[in-house]
Amino acid sequence: MARRQIGLFFGSFNPVHTGHMILANYMATRTALDEVWMVVSPQNPFKKAGSLARDHDRLHLVELAIGETPRLKASRVEFDLPKPSYTIDTLAVLRDKYRDYDFTLIMGSDNLASLHKWKNADIILRDYRIQVYRRPGQEGGELSTHPSVTVYDAPLMQLSATYVRNCIREGHSVRYLVPDAVAEELEKSGLYR
Ligand code: ATP
Repeated sequence: MARRQIGLFFGSFNPVHTGHMILANYMATRTALDEVWMVVSPQNPFKKAGSLARDHDRLHLVELAIGETPRLKASRVEFDLPKPSYTIDTLAVLRDKYRDYDFTLIMGSDNLASLHKWKNADIILRDYRIQVYRRPGQEGGELSTHPSVTVYDAPLMQLSATYVRNCIREGHSVRYLVPDAVAEELEKSGLYR
């Protein structure tokens, strides 16, 4: 049986928004991946918390955003790892835990351009595939032609979690900027207000 192909989409998801969901769904349905796991990064204890919502609140919003969507899953794997967690270490944990799965990283071309600065970037590039989505004005640099890298033109929404948080703080509607279930929960919980 073919090994299950899992794409990992890491983020703070503070909160998750429609831009994230469009991208996750594109990668899950338009590429060779079987599933995309949205990996919620925990709060870095060495950074000031600022307006970062609690880990479980952000995870819950990602779960609400996904709902019954086929091929998408929320992952809390990094919550239980030493902080700050490096991608190479998270990958090792996942590989060990899910021996029948292959893991692929999903990232924007902006992140690809600075991948050489990551811990063990050479090992990541040697051992894992990377699916990159082009972000306007941010080319991936020379790694775009690396044999482990495939670049996709996915539909992009010009939207950030910062923008969503600002909307909420200023009392504006976030309808359509986040999935309906997320908008309802944000309203109910008062998060980011
Ligand atoms: P913030 O505004 O708080 O910095 P963000 O919207 O960039 O947040 P992150 O949680 O940092 O969200 O993003 C997770 C991943 O999603 C990152 O790899 C980021 O590059 C990517 N991403 C962010 N916004 C979009 C978007 N509109 N479309 C596609 N990918 C996005």
